[in-house]
Amino acid sequence: MRIYNTLTDKVEEFIPIEEGKVTMYVCGPTVYNYVHIGNMRPVMTFDMVYNYFKYLGYEVTYASNFTDVNPKIITAAKELGLTEREVADKFIKAYLNDLESYNCSTIDYRPRVIEHIDDIYNFISKLIEKDMAYEVDGDVYFRVNKIPNYGILSNQNVDELISGARVEVDEKKESPLDFALWRKTTEGEQFDSPWGKGIPGWHTECVVMINSLFGTKIDIHGGGVDLKFPHHENEIAQSMALNNNTLANYWMHNGHINLDGEKMSKSLGNFILARDFVKLHSPNVIKIALFKTHYRLPLNLTDDLFNEAVVIDKKIYDVLRQANLKIQTDKLEIGIVKKDEKINEIMDEDFNTPNLITYLNDLVKELNSALRSNQDIVSPYDKINLINKILGLKYDLPKMSDEDIEIYNKWNEYRKNKDFENADKLRSILVEKNII
Ligand SMILES: [Zn+2]
Repeated sequence: MRIYNTLTDKVEEFIPIEEGKVTMYVCGPTVYNYVHIGNMRPVMTFDMVYNYFKYLGYEVTYASNFTDVNPKIITAAKELGLTEREVADKFIKAYLNDLESYNCSTIDYRPRVIEHIDDIYNFISKLIEKDMAYEVDGDVYFRVNKIPNYGILSNQNVDELISGARVEVDEKKESPLDFALWRKTTEGEQFDSPWGKGIPGWHTECVVMINSLFGTKIDIHGGGVDLKFPHHENEIAQSMALNNNTLANYWMHNGHINLDGEKMSKSLGNFILARDFVKLHSPNVIKIALFKTHYRLPLNLTDDLFNEAVVIDKKIYDVLRQANLKIQTDKLEIGIVKKDEKINEIMDEDFNTPNLITYLNDLVKELNSALRSNQDIVSPYDKINLINKILGLKYDLPKMSDEDIEIYNKWNEYRKNKDFENADKLRSILVEKNII
């Protein structure tokens, strides 16, 4: 298995920390409003990554957090006339609904910041003890110049960053690059701390949750490319300071989503909510459209892309349904093929889902022609199902009872004997039962 590691900008052989096991963390949403379709790309991408590791036989532990303590939530609480906890609960619930309606169910742990406030105090205290952080007037900042390789993830050096416009100027900080681990707050939800009332910084929250759940290092840390700097860079800096490691051996970033050629973002007001989008397209169609582009590349959502995905989805469903009918009436044993070299070959190269979809199309053709020529259908049928499982595609196929099979066989017999009157009667029963 080879993965493009954003940390080294190279495709690298995947070597897990513990043999046969994968630990993975993906930054989850800040729960202050409904997520948009751009937020669903990492969800579907890492769902696929999880499924592929499972296919390879790994034991995978996957955590994705809720950022439920954040200034944005304080603002939203004020606007909505709710408490911060009510805002977080409302949008956590909405997000869980989104996961369900997109058939994404691989996340094992969903830590919330609120459950880790004590861990956060301890973490920050240790950084202060090590002289890696300092307190000013109720705020605590991380001392970036203590980290020699700061900028390793986003390939920027400290001088470039300081001269660039990407960091805010704050006279409280020793250096403009220093970032807040703890921030004094005067309104909204606040927590008592050794440094006074305030809330933790976002970059600290994720590191602490990872350390609490998994220990000092994990195999894969994922998220959208927008999180590379400063969020992930600052997660790495804190982990370097405390544990002398880069927090994860492999950093994976998915590309962003363009809407009609323009970057989708909340701040641009150019976005579609995930919950609305899934009313327009089924989760299968959305995933086929998404996985036709490699996860690292920007994805342009266009009507053509979805029209194409609808066709592919229908072809898969139609052939599976037809094959499934034959499997049930002929009592064929399925699930025999558990591995397919071709799938491995494609996916071992940094999860090449566009090629996997091409292969899926080939298998659909193969299964169609096997059905027509009465050849072995189990092998292509099983392989299609292996791919569907990896991509998170779900097809509900009619299940036949013994009685249904009897009716079906009789219907075929009548047709063969050209007894159309009786055949039609049985046909309408089969149609009503959604079998044909
Ligand atoms: Zn994070």
